[in-house]
Amino acid sequence: MLNSIHFLLTYTCLYECDHCFLYCNPRAKGTFTLEQLKTVFTEIEKIESIKEVYFEGGEPFLFYPLLMEGIKMAKATDLETGIVSNAYWATAVEDAELWLRSCRELKVDDLSLSDDEFHHGEDDNPAERALRAAQNLNIPVDTICIEKPTLEVPSDLAQMKGEPIVGGGTRFKGRAADKLTSDLPYRPVSEFTSCPYEDFENPTRVHLDSFGNVQLCQGISIGNMWEIPLSDLTKKYEPLNHPIAGPLIAGGPERLAASYSVNLKGGFVDECHYCYEVRKALLDKFPEYLAPKQVYGLEALTSESDK
Ligand code: SF4
Repeated sequence: MLNSIHFLLTYTCLYECDHCFLYCNPRAKGTFTLEQLKTVFTEIEKIESIKEVYFEGGEPFLFYPLLMEGIKMAKATDLETGIVSNAYWATAVEDAELWLRSCRELKVDDLSLSDDEFHHGEDDNPAERALRAAQNLNIPVDTICIEKPTLEVPSDLAQMKGEPIVGGGTRFKGRAADKLTSDLPYRPVSEFTSCPYEDFENPTRVHLDSFGNVQLCQGISIGNMWEIPLSDLTKKYEPLNHPIAGPLIAGGPERLAASYSVNLKGGFVDECHYCYEVRKALLDKFPEYLAPKQVYGLEALTSESDK
């Protein structure tokens, strides 16, 4: 049952991290307007099962007034709230407290801070300062740490098979697939017969962007909420009839490729890497469902009407 809405408040970010699966960067377009947020919250009120909303990006603190308005709307709708941020704003603990005062006043329920070398390098870590500031203000806070991909053999099964697997928490889609896979071992695509992360038959959360895409996994959309209202879209979603989710449910990325006769050369690190490349090959066939182009590294987005 759908219980969580994640706003991709913007695709704009100060950084351009290799592991970013949304291809965010300082030039990226696609930021919600206040009017769009109001429209979505009107729809959210019609979906009783939704209990929480998160604001993430890109970097949502880049649009601080809009972020705070979004939190207010969520609270007015009796929803729990969370924010995911890279903490770029935490130049000092005391200064970070200035940024976070409104979060405390609005009773934000969860602040998740990216705390890893991908975002901040080794020398200066604003996430540590933001963490201390949030703790000083009694704001519920946690950190997200994605490490550079490594080879490891953590499970008995992998040891028995003698196969190293890739660790570090990176999901190889978006820029991560394009930037981080070249030195890693490939696996046969015949192994990629299920999606390890998403429950397409019963999704509990979707990601929304300002272009209207209602995404099940980054770049896989149910449809466009500016054309069909969100409450109708989620009600009418038929997983097995969705041209991308259906094959993924039936047999993972391997089935998705077979369903549309996609034969890709090269090697693939894991399910997400193969899934992402197969979807890229299908972009022109399913522009409504494989959107936005932004998350496929196609920065042809020059206006709000581009998807
Ligand atoms: S296998 Fe595909 S659908 Fe599943 S999480 Fe990875 S990229 Fe998303």
